[in-house]
Amino acid sequence: MINYLLESFEQINKIEANMTSKKPHILLHVCCGACSCFPLVYLIDRFDITIFFSNSNIYPYEEFNKRLDALKQYVFEIENKFNKKINIIVDQYNYEEFKKDLIPYKNEKEMGKRCDLCIKKRMINLFKYAKTYEIPYVSTVMSVSKNKNSDYINTLGKELEEEYPSEFIIFDFKKNNGQKFGSLLAEKYKIYRQNYCGCEFSKR
Ligand code: SF4
Repeated sequence: MINYLLESFEQINKIEANMTSKKPHILLHVCCGACSCFPLVYLIDRFDITIFFSNSNIYPYEEFNKRLDALKQYVFEIENKFNKKINIIVDQYNYEEFKKDLIPYKNEKEMGKRCDLCIKKRMINLFKYAKTYEIPYVSTVMSVSKNKNSDYINTLGKELEEEYPSEFIIFDFKKNNGQKFGSLLAEKYKIYRQNYCGCEFSKR
């Protein structure tokens, strides 16, 4: 079994060894404020971070905005604490269009085919945006959740890397108590934490 924590260290060490004075620029897909808590603290000293909020899987639109507001609230706290700037790019929201591909798998359990496709669609958006704006590194915070398969996310990231110019950075943010630490941070900063993943099928 692949140890993604070690793989991640090795990958980041290589990037740092070849680094000039500027920190490497990463486009980081973030799904909500709570899931960003640990990854942002972990990455802020290593990368120049631009967040990509591409989450048309979230239903309804009010919930999308609630999660975005929670993310902005947390980013504000982190920017002040670390005295660093983090930009947030908000991708177009179109749940009805996004949902069409998920409907055939609506009765699947979480972490099944519906979720694989949902993650893939958002990751493709991430790679496309990075290509347009020539951002050399990409990744996602989704591996922090115990309901997301890190193996699937990292394998997919490496596959997409073959089709797009950006390098995917491997992470398994739930390792080393990442999820627990994230929960403590969310509690400390009073960050909204939702009780369902996102789509209407996960709400049931
Ligand atoms: S449960 Fe979450 S990951 Fe799975 S399809 Fe719904 S929104 Fe996407």
